[in-house]
Amino acid sequence: MRQSQLFTKTRREAPADEQSKNAQLLIRAGYIHKEMAGVYAFLPLGLRVFNNIVAVIRDEMNKAAGQEITMTGLQDPAVWQATGRWDDEVVDVWFKTALKNGSPLGLGFTHEEPITRMMKDHINSYKDLPQMVYQFQTKFRNEVRAKSGVMRTREFVMKDLYSFAKSQEEHDQLYNTMATAYENVFARVGLGDRTFKTFASGGVFSKYSHEYQTVTDAGEDIIYVNREKGIAINEEVYTDEVLADLGVTKNDLTQEKASEVGNIFSLGTRFSDALGLSFKDEAGDEHPVIMGSYGIGPARLMGVVTESLSDENGLVWPEEIAPFSVHLVALNLEDSEVRDWADGLYDNLTTAGVEVLYDDREVRAGEKFADSDLIGIPYRVVVSKKVKDEGLLEVVTRATGEVRQLTEEELFADFGVSRNA
Ligand code: ATP
Ligand code: MG
Repeated sequence: MRQSQLFTKTRREAPADEQSKNAQLLIRAGYIHKEMAGVYAFLPLGLRVFNNIVAVIRDEMNKAAGQEITMTGLQDPAVWQATGRWDDEVVDVWFKTALKNGSPLGLGFTHEEPITRMMKDHINSYKDLPQMVYQFQTKFRNEVRAKSGVMRTREFVMKDLYSFAKSQEEHDQLYNTMATAYENVFARVGLGDRTFKTFASGGVFSKYSHEYQTVTDAGEDIIYVNREKGIAINEEVYTDEVLADLGVTKNDLTQEKASEVGNIFSLGTRFSDALGLSFKDEAGDEHPVIMGSYGIGPARLMGVVTESLSDENGLVWPEEIAPFSVHLVALNLEDSEVRDWADGLYDNLTTAGVEVLYDDREVRAGEKFADSDLIGIPYRVVVSKKVKDEGLLEVVTRATGEVRQLTEEELFADFGVSRNA
């Protein structure tokens, strides 16, 4: 993409109405637009990162045998009444609306109820199990606090997967498969070293649930971490009994602020009992399906990556989720020979399959470098008259500041692509 055609503008100053670092940086760099408190639009660069995170999650869900669907934002009250979750006294984040004739509708804040009802059309026998079904879908939540930028918004996309099993043993296998898939996701988006499987309250059907908590000052939760064992305990279940269960003592744990980037939850038969989702075993006897639910917020992940990895000069994206791999920053473009050569390099890189943001604007070098730091693409390749004459490209790694001088050949080899692709 040519930067001269990108409609978004960068800003030097942080917006005055944002407290969180992630919102400040993402707005300054032109990744997001604040529509109102807790509601953000994703702009071209931001959408690319968001879509890359979604792609990582989708890949891991598919590898774990998840089947993708998409359900609806509009929700039928009847299905929520059946589980007792329509009542505002029970669920305090509902956004509700109504049809022209006055009948109420909900805007989904999660999807256990409708998917359980839907699966009744498809699960009858033990032969139909196990199943894992997921979606990326908009959730609406009337959150009280909305001060954490894209980490907590009132409209957000969630990846929610639901598992359906015929026995506790089968459920436990699905649950462990998801735990592994989640660990892969957090590693791939660059948060593996600071994200901990965290024991949290489990509700009625299991002793614990697991949250994946990323240690960050921007987090709204308190956890107690044991880095050696790679586990943590949410303060809500931080009791002597839990410590004993996990074989740790207070001295083995450090208190940290953290943000919940995902969670995995055993639901038992809570929803299948209430909505009548059952299967026949080999003898023809009827049993409720054992369910689990597994959520990740891609935008929360984007916010947590921003909070965790950015530096005083701007954003720093891990390669797997960066909006582009290379920021080709061209200087001396008023010289038509330099421009032709820079255009050619851009075309060659793009043709070879490298994702390039090409700063082809005729603005001062200082402005280009400041914008490049702010935007945070993993590799900056600088071209100029001097570079063209001397034949050595300057390649700067955004995360470390490492500078390398490479020939064009070496640059292409570095990206594992052929120059004449
Ligand atoms: P929290 O305690 O932070 O409110 P939650 O318990 O409500 O989270 P779930 O309902 O299980 O979270 O949602 C699954 C995932 O969706 C969370 O782990 C998080 O990544 C994301 N998520 C939840 N609420 C929001 C929100 N308001 N904005 C953005 N992402 C969210
Ligand atoms: Mg919540």
